[in-house]
Amino acid sequence: MTDYIDVEHVTLRFTEKQRQLTVLEDVSLSLARGEFVVLLGPSGCGKSTILNMIAGFTRPQQGRILCDGRAFSGPHPSRGMIFQQPNLFPWLSVLDNVTFGLRMQGQSKTEADKRALTWLKRVGLEGFERHAPWQLSGGMKQRVAMARAWLPDPAVLLLDEPFGALDAQTRMMMQELLRSAWRQTGTTILFVTHDVEEALFLADRILIMSARPGKIVEEVRPPFGPERDIEALAQAPGYSEI
Ligand code: ADP
Ligand code: MG
Repeated sequence: MTDYIDVEHVTLRFTEKQRQLTVLEDVSLSLARGEFVVLLGPSGCGKSTILNMIAGFTRPQQGRILCDGRAFSGPHPSRGMIFQQPNLFPWLSVLDNVTFGLRMQGQSKTEADKRALTWLKRVGLEGFERHAPWQLSGGMKQRVAMARAWLPDPAVLLLDEPFGALDAQTRMMMQELLRSAWRQTGTTILFVTHDVEEALFLADRILIMSARPGKIVEEVRPPFGPERDIEALAQAPGYSEI
């Protein structure tokens, strides 16, 4: 496996009320192609900020970020993102929500619809193409967001607490669905959460962050099959802050 994303010695500060706030200090991480990595840390430690930088929405003041060995200057469809809120267009059908990005890139409706139907089936929403977002449950909306993000066939998918607003049962189902879609596609995944059990269930590798300033303090590779070992993680330094 070769590294697809390299975050090298990134430091980021915001100025607030004339005070400098160091949000991230000397953060380095890399994602190998096809890896499923979870970034785990307490609220406010800078997880979303890291994702936003990899997506290309924010730039670091120090350090650099490489994608496939090259620097980049903004967002690109090869780096897809899924947020806690599904952010669907309320006036578009499920199908049109999913194909919106591809259509904007000039792909024909026939081709875009065909690809979208494959993805809707994969996320268990076959037969819901003509539904409006308001007719769907929270979990179903997030499945639409998943299909939409995956449709352009991104090389890396960045997920920012995507299941944070869902009830426990739906959340577990979505976690299973995500792992299975990942297995089928081989997409590189960076998944952000503050939930230890979620991290243990999903990750092949967990990066643990601490806050003020945000730093990666530990990396663990849980020794698991599907049975995830919460004790192993509880031993890791930095765990108590989560
Ligand atoms: P997390 O996703 O881990 O909860 P964030 O990345 O959203 O954390 O935020 C990390 C820190 O950076 C927080 O203290 C937040 O208040 C601060 N922050 C984020 N964006 C800005 C901004 N645009 N201006 C000032 N402070 C910000
Ligand atoms: Mg966040």
